[in-house]
Amino acid sequence: MGMTGFVLRLQQQFAAARQQLQRFVAAPAGSSVVARSLSREQARDLVVHYWVNQVIHMERWPECDANGNVTWPKPTDKVKLKLNIAGVQFTPDNPQAAGWTETRELDLRNVVLVVRFTQYLKDRWGASVIYWGGLGIGGGRNDNPDTHTEGLAMDFHGAVTSAGHFDVLRDWGNQRVPAAIGGDKFGQWPASATKTSYRLAVDPMDMAKFVLGVAGARGFFEDIYQYLTTQARHDSLEAKPRIGEGSGILHPDTPWNWLRAGHKNHFHFEVAKVK
Ligand SMILES: [Zn+2]
Repeated sequence: MGMTGFVLRLQQQFAAARQQLQRFVAAPAGSSVVARSLSREQARDLVVHYWVNQVIHMERWPECDANGNVTWPKPTDKVKLKLNIAGVQFTPDNPQAAGWTETRELDLRNVVLVVRFTQYLKDRWGASVIYWGGLGIGGGRNDNPDTHTEGLAMDFHGAVTSAGHFDVLRDWGNQRVPAAIGGDKFGQWPASATKTSYRLAVDPMDMAKFVLGVAGARGFFEDIYQYLTTQARHDSLEAKPRIGEGSGILHPDTPWNWLRAGHKNHFHFEVAKVK
């Protein structure tokens, strides 16, 4: 059987599987629930919905019984995603994952978070490539299960968008922290500092700089942060915390000084804590 025959057979198998899972074509109940509040059941139904509509691709396909009840993945199962997600190319930033063709095992709630984040970047910023880390692998900082090894988190290092290539390290983490907001003589947060703010922020009265920055790195990272507060776990007292306020979404201007240096080159976000 040649390549054409193989592709044809795969298409037929997909059509048959899709037929069995017909009821997942329409958006399931979890569609209107923020990612961090999803039940595992809602997340599973959304994952099948994404798969049926080819938003995500997986080595192993969803399976169901004769009554159309999904037997895999179960709500507590984890899945590996191929690296084209919602039409955006996922490129590993960590060398450890350089040759991978799929993520490691992800909690289904995190799949929903990653898909929504990707769709947002695509719709709002025209993202075509996302540089990622930590989808199912940890940074090796400790031997205990963490949100990465449990498949609950993602690290975002940058993206290629229609407004250009944004890189968290180059365009944010390596930028000077102005002395006016607490930067030291090296243009960095003092290691002891536990009060920070967004180093890329400019005086809103400086109109020219303000307008320019909205479509540039300053506006890009701020927009991402604000979007993430609507979906990711942040555990802030504020409904929509701002960059510099303590939250579970970590980045180069994280106020908690013990977590700041490790996030100079990426956003960290997660759907839930490790239970
Ligand atoms: Zn992380």
